Amino acid sequence: MIEEYINIHVRSKFKKNDLIKYELVSYLNDDLFAELGRAYEEDLNIVEHLTSRKVKYYKSISYTIVDNDDQIDVKLKAGDVIDILEDLSTNSIFQNTGITTRISYARIRAIFLHTKGNLQVPFLFLDWFISQDSIDQKLRCPLYKLQKSEDYTWRRIYAIKCIDHQPNVHFVHCCKTGCIVNGEHSQNNMNYMHNIFYYTAV
Ligand SMILES: [Zn+2]
Repeated sequence: MIEEYINIHVRSKFKKNDLIKYELVSYLNDDLFAELGRAYEEDLNIVEHLTSRKVKYYKSISYTIVDNDDQIDVKLKAGDVIDILEDLSTNSIFQNTGITTRISYARIRAIFLHTKGNLQVPFLFLDWFISQDSIDQKLRCPLYKLQKSEDYTWRRIYAIKCIDHQPNVHFVHCCKTGCIVNGEHSQNNMNYMHNIFYYTAV
């Protein structure tokens, strides 16, 4: 199966204020630079010594995946929640459990371009939803905690090719009293619920 990614366009660059608000840095720190190297290697099969740590952040990206005769248009924007089917067949923890795949969810914090030679390579900066293995007692929806900025347990830089379909996932903040200030939810509370009753026809 040969897949091709074409018509890649990024839109609306993050302004200085946005970078501060979303805790993004124009020069990747050591941890994120190492993650970028892994994304090149594991997602794109490119093993190369990277020189530039500089990245440019954008709020949205669109691209078309060409797969033989099929074409899929994908449009992603910061704040969208994506779903990734993980392959667990080589994961020793799940051996002998019969579980070979699992769907994981992450929120896109930003899209960024990294310059490699004369190429601008697009990547996603993600925050993962970590399953709490419990459900909301009233709504019966699974509960999650969003990965914090300072938590590097899960790689958050991924090549866009990890997303091969338009996402249709809905997470809601588990608000506490006084959560919303100036139309935005408090970022001190990282608890979210996966709204499993939300479907839209695609
Ligand atoms: Zn809230």
